[in-house]
Amino acid sequence: MSVRVRLLLSFTSVLMVTIMLFVLSAYLVTIAITGDVRSFSDFYKNHYKLHPLSASEERIFLELKSIAKTDPAKLMSAELLSDYDFQLRMIQAGMYVRKESKQLYVSPSLREPHLGAALPGYEMGNNQIRNTINDGNRFFAYAKFDFTFSDQDRGSIYVLRERSPFAEMIRKLFPIFIGVLLAVLLFTNWLLFRLITRSIIKPLNELRQSAEQIKSGDLHYEVKAQGQDEIGQLCRSFEEMRLQLKQSVQLQLQYEDNRKELLSSISHDLRTPITTIKGYVEGIRDGVADTPVKLNQYLETIHTRVTSLDRLVDELFLYSKLDLRKVPYSFEHVDLQSFLADALEELHFDLDLQGIQLEGVFPHSPLPVLIDREKLKRVILNLIDNGVKYMDKDAKQIIVRVTESDEYATVEVRDNGAGILQEQLPHIFDQFYRGLPPHHKQPEGSGLGLAIAKQIIEGHGGRIWAESEWKQGCSIYFTLKKTIETADGGDA
Ligand code: ADP
Repeated sequence: MSVRVRLLLSFTSVLMVTIMLFVLSAYLVTIAITGDVRSFSDFYKNHYKLHPLSASEERIFLELKSIAKTDPAKLMSAELLSDYDFQLRMIQAGMYVRKESKQLYVSPSLREPHLGAALPGYEMGNNQIRNTINDGNRFFAYAKFDFTFSDQDRGSIYVLRERSPFAEMIRKLFPIFIGVLLAVLLFTNWLLFRLITRSIIKPLNELRQSAEQIKSGDLHYEVKAQGQDEIGQLCRSFEEMRLQLKQSVQLQLQYEDNRKELLSSISHDLRTPITTIKGYVEGIRDGVADTPVKLNQYLETIHTRVTSLDRLVDELFLYSKLDLRKVPYSFEHVDLQSFLADALEELHFDLDLQGIQLEGVFPHSPLPVLIDREKLKRVILNLIDNGVKYMDKDAKQIIVRVTESDEYATVEVRDNGAGILQEQLPHIFDQFYRGLPPHHKQPEGSGLGLAIAKQIIEGHGGRIWAESEWKQGCSIYFTLKKTIETADGGDA
């Protein structure tokens, strides 16, 4: 059974129970007021017109009527009349007896100056014997009987019961009240049903639709959560789950793309030197290198190619290990300035030979950082190596500058070489990316140097980026978190 049908059934049963309780309480209230169990069954069956009086009042009225029919003279007896009046008073009713225009008897509770005038005139056919009257202030239901005394005078007996005018109004408007009440109940029921189904069924349907879309592989169907209730929370959690799923699927696809790209790049990068080596080896085998000088040249080329192949495989191996987070880091507390100064010192000799001026610009105070010495050295080497590779000026210069902020130390490796085109900047840290500046011969390289540097810096919790102006040189920056070395060697 669907939730909608269940809700409809529960609402209908609540409505039925409400109506039943309403009828029951009306019944009980009527009994409580009238004290008569049967009075409810007579309720509103033109009650006042046909039975303006209760059964006991009616019984007394019938007795008086039978006396009026058989022996009207008896009605002249004040004793008999007050005896009947007493009985009527016991049940909160009263009587009025008249002979022509003379009042023979009137119950004390009915002594009103205008009552006589308000009572209807003689109507000997007794066609209309039950009705209501209003004497101005008070409202009565009555049963009357017109008869003839032995002296041919007309007489009337009235048994009256006072009713509240409000009750009369209610009596008249009763069907309208009931109708309006039922209409309000039905309307409220319908409104509540709509409201609840809207706030529950609609989001549930959306959730179902979204789940079905996800099942069929479409992760774009957004579930809009409304409200803070449980359903709203469920929608929000579902939406979060969808977004996470979408993200991980996208990541998966990206990984897949990366993997394919990596494979094709590796095969391409390996094929080029291998083809060259193969060509030279075949040349030697076929006797093309027929002089010792030529043979030496061939062997030299093969050696260079094998060396670069070896380096490529090394870098590839390191990159894939870093990418798979399989290289352990051994962090140490180090003063960044002295670490960099040592690293630059080692390179000075080589760079001097190539006519490159290498300069370190450091702040005066020590700068404690937590680093893996070997890996950070690799980063510095890769960056300086690039500065050397892409150098196109006569006055060659590479500067390593350190600045510090509250939390971080920033290292800049700046060269005055070829620089990087703006559109290439976002890609240079991608694996196997090699910028090919137009009309420039691309120096040897694997396209892994900066990708490895990025992996290592991120492994240190830092950030790496590049700034460059084409033809003016380029700066690669990276950050390292500063630490405060404590006495026991731990960092705070
Ligand atoms: P590789 O240098 O082996 O090509 P890298 O990952 O080290 O690979 O660098 C990627 C690309 O970024 C290079 O191909 C080059 O186009 C550009 N690049 C990196 N460093 C510099 C630099 N200092 N000056 C100019 N271009 C650079």
